[in-house]
Parts: sequence; structure tokens; C-alpha cells
Amino acid sequence: MEDTIAAIATAYGEGGIGIVRISGNRSKEILDKLFKPAKNQDRKSIVNRQLTYGYIVSPEDNKIIDEVLVVFMKAPSTYTREDVVEIFCHGSTVSLNKTLSLVLDSGARLAEAGEFTKRAFLNGRIDLSQAEAVIDVIKAKTEKSFELAIDQMEGHLSQRVKELRDGLMDLLVRIAVNIDYSEEDIEELSYEETLTSLSSIGDKIEKLLSTADTGRMIREGLRVTIVGRPNVGKSSLMNALLRESRAIVTDIPGTTRDTIEEVLNLRGIPVYLTDTAGIHSTEDEIEKIGIERSKLAFNRADLIIFMVDGSLPLREEDYLIADQIGDRKVIVILNKSDLGKSVTEKQIKELLDNAIIIDAAVIHDKGIKELEDSILNLVYGGKVSQEHSDMVTNIRHKDLLEKAKNSIGDAKKMALNNQPMDLIEIDIRQAWEYLGEIIGETVTEDIIDQVFSRFCLGK
Ligand code: GDP
Repeated sequence: MEDTIAAIATAYGEGGIGIVRISGNRSKEILDKLFKPAKNQDRKSIVNRQLTYGYIVSPEDNKIIDEVLVVFMKAPSTYTREDVVEIFCHGSTVSLNKTLSLVLDSGARLAEAGEFTKRAFLNGRIDLSQAEAVIDVIKAKTEKSFELAIDQMEGHLSQRVKELRDGLMDLLVRIAVNIDYSEEDIEELSYEETLTSLSSIGDKIEKLLSTADTGRMIREGLRVTIVGRPNVGKSSLMNALLRESRAIVTDIPGTTRDTIEEVLNLRGIPVYLTDTAGIHSTEDEIEKIGIERSKLAFNRADLIIFMVDGSLPLREEDYLIADQIGDRKVIVILNKSDLGKSVTEKQIKELLDNAIIIDAAVIHDKGIKELEDSILNLVYGGKVSQEHSDMVTNIRHKDLLEKAKNSIGDAKKMALNNQPMDLIEIDIRQAWEYLGEIIGETVTEDIIDQVFSRFCLGK
């Protein structure tokens, strides 16, 4: 935290503008060393939070590196709560690299991934869940996941967690007073009151937890795998879905021989769609590799779309696939309904009793909307939620809420059995600490490091 850190904050590549960012005590001194204001101005012309026009000049030979705008932002009203300088260069990797290396030569050290945000956290400007939301904002693939991340960054979740902790702290204080001053004439905390408070807090945690599955799907996306024997229309389905809602994404994991992954933006939900080769037994070595990949995609899927040619009687292969699906979440598409109907819903229900069944003719776009609705229905667990500011999206938060819930459950059991208050207190305190880990108040350095290792450089 003593060091002054620097990094290129903008994406690598060509662009109109690129930004070198510096944070720490020496920021201004470094800027003074390297920046020459445009003519008729001296360095005193740099005013806090105001852009100044000029040049980055190499101090060794006075050579101009780039024409820039710079801003100095004085602590503590900055992203990191430290002095921050931003240098707006031309967005060329040459200019950015040269400017950065001059900054590093002048006394800064290269920032680690996420270190600016880490400082914002360590200096108390944001809590840990807000810091985690920063990376979600950057990585969001759809508007909905973006909105959720912004809400979390603004502190909606933190607020809920703080309220829960305040409730537990109230209880802890009352218990402590009862234990410490049991002789004195103070109102005794009854088991009944303890139970009521714990139940109310437990219910609120439960409510937050009930949003976690949907939240995770909005944040991370839904993994969907299409299975079915050859020629039933899997590729046609994939194309139909993509035509409507292909997500704009870069770096999609590569296409393999046997599985193709595409990303859809299904009314705000990122859907990772894989079309797999049939999963069957084979002696062919190369085919085996493909089948292994398919199995992996199949096993990781949140939802399976099982496609059947509904115009022909079911075949051995269909039964084998149904067998593999077992009791996983599945939507069965009876495709090619334009050619007639040889498979009944009853037949499918006998194979997969929980399946959602859709009649379709994907080359005529029939059944596509129904399929999309069914997928969304699954994400929202039947209730279309518009209000998502208090949603839990992060698996780390979900785990901690679950642990807190369990500790509260244990405390409640003890209170029901009239166990000593100092034992009940231990579980309540534990729950309070678990909740504290979400916002980073009771958290180990390991966890902090883990959280920030997901960041990109310059953030
Ligand atoms: P895949 O092997 O499962 O990926 O199947 P394809 O998507 O390649 O489709 C196989 C054949 O079935 C192609 O000739 C498609 O045009 C045709 N097909 C796909 N869906 C339908 C449909 O709904 N109705 C009809 N009549 N043909 C379809």
C-alpha cells in the first residue's frame, strides 16, 4: 500500500485514446517529472480534477513521446482513495507502453491485476462484494447481468447484509449484557424473544438465498446442451436460436470436431449452447475423444434439450439417450411436426417423467418461441422477476449465506431446548462472521487475493 502503482487501464490494441493510470503518494511527483504543459503554461497550471493539455516528455533527452491530456485527482475523493493521475495518450500500444515505462522508471511499480480496486477496498471506499461487482460489470455479457452487477456495485446487497448483521449484533449485545450483568436488575432476554429474532433474520437470509439460482444464471449464464441422434434437426435448432438472439461476444471457446458452443442472449440471460455428437459406445479412438467431450458438456449442463424426430417412431438410440438423461432437467423437442406425428407425449413421459415437451418444426420456426419461454421459465423458477436489486449472483456469497443460515438454525435449536445463552451466542457470532465475509469485514487475506486475481490489469 506504500507503493505507487501504475498500469495501462484501457484494452490492449488500437483505439482513439488509451489511458495510463497511476495511484499512490508519488503520483503527482511522477506526473510533474514527465508532463510538459502546452506553451504559455507552467506545471502549476495543473488543477485538481481538471484536464490539462500538453506532452509526455522523456526526462532524459526531452523527447516528446505523445501529445496527451492529463488529470490529477487528489486523495481522498478518488477511485482508490489515494492520489490518482490519469494520462490520456493516443490509443497506440507504442505510446501507451512508452508512457507506462517512463512512469515506472520515475518511481511507480506495475500494478497487479485488480490492485486499484483492491486499494479502493482496503482503503474502505467500497466493500468486498462491491469490489467483486466491479469485475462483474466489466465481464457482463448481457444487459441484465450488467444491471445486476451495477446494483451490487452500488451496494444493494451490502446494505441487506449489513442489516442482517446489525440484527445479529443487537442480539449478541443483549445476550452479553444478560450474561455479564445477570445479578443486576435488567430485563432478561427470554428464549422466546431470541427465537423470534433469529427466525426473522433466518427468513430474510432464506429470501436472499431463494434468488441465488436465478442470480447465478443471470451472472454466469445457463449451460444448455442439445442431444439427439443424427438428422433430427439439432443444427437447424441451433441456427434458429442464433438467428433470433446471438449474443455479441468475443473469445468464444473454439469449435471442436464434436461439440460446438455458441452464446445466445435470451432476453438478457446469457445461454451457452452446445450441440453434442451422440453419446454412444464406440471402439473408434478419435470418436471416443469426441464422445468424452460431449459427455463433459452433457454433465456440466444446467439444462438438456433432447431432440427427437417426432415424425418417425422412436428408435433404439433415442431410448439410449433418454437413459443417459435420467432425472436431469430436460426439454424434449418433438421435431419435424410438419411431416406428421408418430411419437406421443405419453411415450416421452414414460421415458422421462419430468420432461417439458414441445412440438416443433424448427425449419419453419415452429416451437422456437415456446422453447425460449421454457428456458426462461426455468431460469426464473416459474416467477418472472423484474425486481432484482437484492439478488445473490455470486457463489461465494451464496455459500456464506448458507453457512450463516445453518449457524442460525443451530442457535435456534439450542434456544428451543433452553440451552445456556453463552452456547447460543457462539453460533450467533459465527453467523455474524460469515455474513461479514461477504462484505469483507471478517475475511482472510487468502480470500481477498482470490477475489482480486479474477481482475484484469489496470482495474
Ligand atoms: P442434426 O444432424 O440433428 O444436426 O440435423 P440437421 O439440423 O442437420 O437436420 C437434418 C435434416 O432435417 C436437414 O435436412 C434439415 O433441413 C431437416 N429438418 C430439420 N428440422 C426440420 C423440420 O422441422 N421439418 C422438416 N421437414 N425437416 C427438418
